[in-house]
Amino acid sequence: MARRTERIALNAPTPGVDRHLTVHRYGAPGARPKAYLQAALHADEWPGLMALHHLAPLLDAAAAAGEVVGEVVVAPYANPLGMDHRIGGVVSGRYAYDGSGNTNRNWPDLAPAVAARLNGPLSGDAAADVERVRGVLREAAADLPERTPMMQLRKILTQLSADADHVLDLHCDGEAEAHLYANITGEERARALAEEMGIEIVMLEEEAGGGAFDTAPVQFWRRLAEVGVEGAEALGAPCFGTTVELRGKADVSDDLGAADAAGLLRYLVRVGVLAEAARDRVGPAPDAAVETYRLDAVDTVNAPAAGLIAYQRPLGARVSAGDVVAVLIDPAAEPGQDRTEVRTQQTGRLFTYNEHRLVQPGDRIVKVAGTEPLSYRKLGALLED
Ligand SMILES: [Zn+2]
Repeated sequence: MARRTERIALNAPTPGVDRHLTVHRYGAPGARPKAYLQAALHADEWPGLMALHHLAPLLDAAAAAGEVVGEVVVAPYANPLGMDHRIGGVVSGRYAYDGSGNTNRNWPDLAPAVAARLNGPLSGDAAADVERVRGVLREAAADLPERTPMMQLRKILTQLSADADHVLDLHCDGEAEAHLYANITGEERARALAEEMGIEIVMLEEEAGGGAFDTAPVQFWRRLAEVGVEGAEALGAPCFGTTVELRGKADVSDDLGAADAAGLLRYLVRVGVLAEAARDRVGPAPDAAVETYRLDAVDTVNAPAAGLIAYQRPLGARVSAGDVVAVLIDPAAEPGQDRTEVRTQQTGRLFTYNEHRLVQPGDRIVKVAGTEPLSYRKLGALLED
């Protein structure tokens, strides 16, 4: 079955403006497993746009050869509202201009609405129950409010993804090594994705909090039991969701996009969305020594004051607690008193930089992934805005 491309109309923000979302679909509707991929939910993060650009012809060829076993839904750009958010030539992209905040936070918890619709216990046949719950989940998603343009966009993206087996949300950091975030229930799939993509850093969490796009459809299944649906705890974790951080904002190139697309394709084969034969369309996975870390053991080192950053250790460096990772320069201070050392509290791998070198107090300077729990990192509040 060939690709079907939908053009989903979005509400016009002003008279004379026509906005839409493009969605590519592969495989028979309803076939399993279903994978959903999107890029640039944070509209200022573009490596995912390049990856999905290179994935499209691979999926087209796989579809033409009858290699799509399940269903693949691709939103090649997830946030056309944010892409238009420019100030002085810079796409800000992360926060909605309508006051609704970070676009990758506060995705809806549909468990209460689904529980109300189920109105009774599940059957005890896990496969049939998952199928039934997914049907009700689609109804609940279709009932989400769409009063504003951003609410409408959130509703559409939820409808596309809520019932998927695999939700891959492609983002990037400021400057970074590639890494990914996933719930601990998805550890095996997260490692598989990292291996296929050549990503060495996997961050796992029980409850990140904040309602990130990829966590909502994962947490839904756990929440179902919490809101009192009898038998829901037996369903396990039918959805794997992940935020894939494709390095830094400037890491946009054909070479990187093609490599990322190949990795995504290999993952889709590995989890049975595509037939094994599709693997021949790309080369083998690069060698990657995948390391898993707990998200609550990531030291997010923030700027203690305003200033200019001079990094002291390269991305990927192995650092120890107490090491100086950066120097903050205050151009207003007396010479000799104008350099402040900034240290990490963690022993581990330094994997992100801030892409800006002039920072304000509280701006994140680096992240260090380690293994020792850090007292200031709290479950349920692990994502910075
Ligand atoms: Zn992002």
